[in-house]
Amino acid sequence: MKVLKFGGTSVGSVKNITNVKNIINDGNKKIVVLSAMSGTTNELVAIANHIKDENSNEAINKIHKLHEIYSLTIDELLIDKTLNNETKNYVSDIFSLLINSTYKPFSNILENTILAQGELLSTYIFNCYLKQEGIRSAILPALNFMRIDTAKEPDLPYIKKHFETVFNTAETSDVYITQGFICLDVDDKISNLQRGGSDYTATIIGAVIKAEEVQIWTDIDGMHNNDPRHVENTKPISNLSYDEAAELAYFGAKILHPQTVTPVREYNIPVSLKNTMNPEAHGTLISSITSENGIKAIAAKDNITAIKIKSGRMLQAHGFLKKVFEVFEVYETSIDMITTSEVAVSLTIDDDRNLDKIVAELEKFALIEVDKNQSIVCLVGHSVVNHEYTYKLFKILKDVKIRMISYGGSKNNISLLINADDKVKTLRKLNNYLFELVTV
Ligand code: ASP
Ligand code: MG
Repeated sequence: MKVLKFGGTSVGSVKNITNVKNIINDGNKKIVVLSAMSGTTNELVAIANHIKDENSNEAINKIHKLHEIYSLTIDELLIDKTLNNETKNYVSDIFSLLINSTYKPFSNILENTILAQGELLSTYIFNCYLKQEGIRSAILPALNFMRIDTAKEPDLPYIKKHFETVFNTAETSDVYITQGFICLDVDDKISNLQRGGSDYTATIIGAVIKAEEVQIWTDIDGMHNNDPRHVENTKPISNLSYDEAAELAYFGAKILHPQTVTPVREYNIPVSLKNTMNPEAHGTLISSITSENGIKAIAAKDNITAIKIKSGRMLQAHGFLKKVFEVFEVYETSIDMITTSEVAVSLTIDDDRNLDKIVAELEKFALIEVDKNQSIVCLVGHSVVNHEYTYKLFKILKDVKIRMISYGGSKNNISLLINADDKVKTLRKLNNYLFELVTV
């Protein structure tokens, strides 16, 4: 069986929902994971923030506006009177729940409950639409099987056991629909797999059922070799290895949740990235096959903070790095890049929620300098460190101030830390020299 995940844009308009129906209606049994309709989760985040700021009027305004959009979409999509009514009742209940949350004190659980409504809405509406179109479908409620453990990682044995029960007791269907992104935590409270987490839901289910393939359907022809928002003439990459895809997803290619390939790689389950608006396009196939050497793609990750840790006592002091890492461990902050010299260590983080506390701890034994607003630009490809152009990187980027460079951590990645203001210039320069073959 295959698992197909459709993103927000794919379920964001009646036209696209029709495309999705055509893609899945091929007579094969499948599992379909849906995101919330495009824009919904952002609106729900804004509503939760208004509640947090005790601005319930703004929250209520937003809830009403969103409700109107859903009513219009349902009228356009569901011509069948009974299904239309049934769906509107369900949707009204959800919007009443949202209105009720504006009277409650803010908490993380309240926020997560609000965020979960987007996927509950999209799956319910889509299921009713398939019924109207005569397709046998059933909902597998994600909150009955998807769960994270104390480390906020998916609890795979739990998910496997509960998924099987939910699947086996569902009405026999051709299309089994479930919610991406949402899950329960260890205390059985509503939680989620972080923004963009529907991709992760799809590969977790893929691993649990040993799927034949996981397909991630978005609004672009696969992963591109550079950021199409900043660079012209980017091209889709037809094949990526799991390692290359993981590096790209982690270092900024927005199309995939960073953890997407983790669950499926050990079972060798291919992940295909496809375009709902152009289903014929090949897209990107992620698998264990590594193809030709060289730089395949460039990606950038924003909002990076660099921390320089300087200590006279570091000289020949073993155990220094251990002391540094322990501080980051205590504050559950992961380090992305690291470089060292004899007198200083520079490292980067993207989660700066505990920055002040981390700096205060480090200052007990070292001098600290913090640079915010940095970007990591990352070059990815099988054996990228051996590419014939790699030695020219400094020349290509001679007028960009490179703050850190990481080379050799893996053969598939070279990362550069630069000022965020230089990002677009850097992406374009690299594109010209590496993919448009301007010579240096
Ligand atoms: N709806 C969630 C989000 O916007 C999850 C997803 O779309 O993957 O982040
Ligand atoms: Mg996404």
